[in-house]
Amino acid sequence: MTLTFPTEAFINGRYVAAADGRTYECVTPRDGSVLASVTRGDTADISRAVAAARRAFDAGDWAYADPAQRGRVLIRMSELLFEHAERLAQIESRDTGHPISDARNVDVPGAARCFAWYGQAVDKVYGEIAPTAGDALALIGREPLGVVGAVVPWNYPLIITAWKLAPALAAGNSVVLKPAEQSPLSALALAELAAEAGIPDGVLNVVPGFGEEAGQALGRHPDVDKVAFTGSVEVGRLFQRYAGESNGKQVSLELGGKSPQVVLADAADLQAVAEAIGWGIFYNAGQTCHAGSRVVVHEAVADELRERLRSVAAGFVPADPAAEDTILGALISAEHLESVRGHVRRARDDGAAIVYGEWTGDGHVDPTAQVAPVAPVAGGAYMGPIVLDSSDDPARAIVQDEVFGPVLTIQTARDVDHALQLANDTRYGLAAAVWTRDVSTAGRLARRLRAGTVWVNTFDASSVATPFGGMRDSGHGRDRSLHALDAYTQLKTTWISLT
Ligand code: NAP
Ligand code: MG
Repeated sequence: MTLTFPTEAFINGRYVAAADGRTYECVTPRDGSVLASVTRGDTADISRAVAAARRAFDAGDWAYADPAQRGRVLIRMSELLFEHAERLAQIESRDTGHPISDARNVDVPGAARCFAWYGQAVDKVYGEIAPTAGDALALIGREPLGVVGAVVPWNYPLIITAWKLAPALAAGNSVVLKPAEQSPLSALALAELAAEAGIPDGVLNVVPGFGEEAGQALGRHPDVDKVAFTGSVEVGRLFQRYAGESNGKQVSLELGGKSPQVVLADAADLQAVAEAIGWGIFYNAGQTCHAGSRVVVHEAVADELRERLRSVAAGFVPADPAAEDTILGALISAEHLESVRGHVRRARDDGAAIVYGEWTGDGHVDPTAQVAPVAPVAGGAYMGPIVLDSSDDPARAIVQDEVFGPVLTIQTARDVDHALQLANDTRYGLAAAVWTRDVSTAGRLARRLRAGTVWVNTFDASSVATPFGGMRDSGHGRDRSLHALDAYTQLKTTWISLT
């Protein structure tokens, strides 16, 4: 299919080039070829977008509209995403290397449903009346913040964009979105659909560009009220600094993870557990913030689980993302592939034991490896699954650091308390899973695992109705659910004297 898509920034309701005319080349990791020249937004473009967003907010057509009207527009946006589903899926798959079936079945419908959910919810949220004496009526209401900056990563461009835009727009804010430089195309296409759905000019602006340029300009802009950020721990901290050095804007952070999969001796069906673990780490080539990248398994079932994980891993064969039956596509870029290989090389040098996989990057294939290095499409960024055992050293970098690739570590635990201790032993706290048939043990671990989401006997089950976000170094924001509306609004007290 011939694919057409916008490549310029979307500011004040129209596509425009950068003020200085600069562009950059957007590459597809499928084969390393250039997909498009995309606007390279910088400070001047962010300023134009923020000014348009502020004008639109102050005009009030969106901010003060009947919430039911905003809701109808968001529901229309959702319908338009479904109508353009195949085109959006093709764009997302080419831009990111996601398997086309994932783009069709997960990315596009996930984003579309998110807009509909907030559209349906926003006119059902009530304020409060405070319990005061009878001579006063004190109303507690929520108002939009004003101009919201959204800065998102490349791993799930459409879905994470929807998680930010839908509640921010539903609440009546104007938004300036900076997509990741590697994956700007679906957000640019979305802007046109938003306008078609009835989002007024200036209410939604999309400025592609580089983090140090457009991203930093948004973080430091004095007229931005909040930045909603998803990305790495390091850049999240930069946004807190930008806020402190500019106008003290709110910053919400959804950061990285190193999510444990705790498998206890009484787990029900080890084959089903192994398959869930496989999907939990190898889906999207491990480029998932909450990827279940660490197995913590009771020693009584460790050998059996290790064997089952070996054969599950063998089922994830890297292949052309454009092919219908591909389940493991390309990584986002050649640079990122090199970074993931670096983690694996270091783990090998640190003494981690190979359970499954190829040693890549230096031409050396380990004799115990079952598979050879792969390149299903020449020039692309591909890598097969790696499974390592690091039971001997929980402090090893491969256990502690986010890899963001198809790399799984295994650690064995002596008992439940040891498993809990290992599971909590990183700086992250995004998600965790427990596999056990004992409901008391499950409940006790769910309480004590330090993570924003704990799954019991499942992994990655989710709904737009549940909050998602982290603790500790994984950040403190929550996307999804009605709680996200709180994140894009502020409380106002109106005290009316009745005397
Ligand atoms: P990243 O490097 O932090 O980038 C995220 C966004 O920040 C991009 O738009 C990026 O622009 C921008 N940025 C980079 N440097 C910047 C700077 N100096 N100033 C302002 N903005 C800057 O993260 P990534 O590599 O794209 O994504 C992977 C990370 O995201 C992982 O750590 C992952 O765990 C995390 N993540 C978290 C969640 C969650 O919900 N908790 C979800 C998905 C991903 P450029 O594209 O131009 O660099
Ligand atoms: Mg790209």
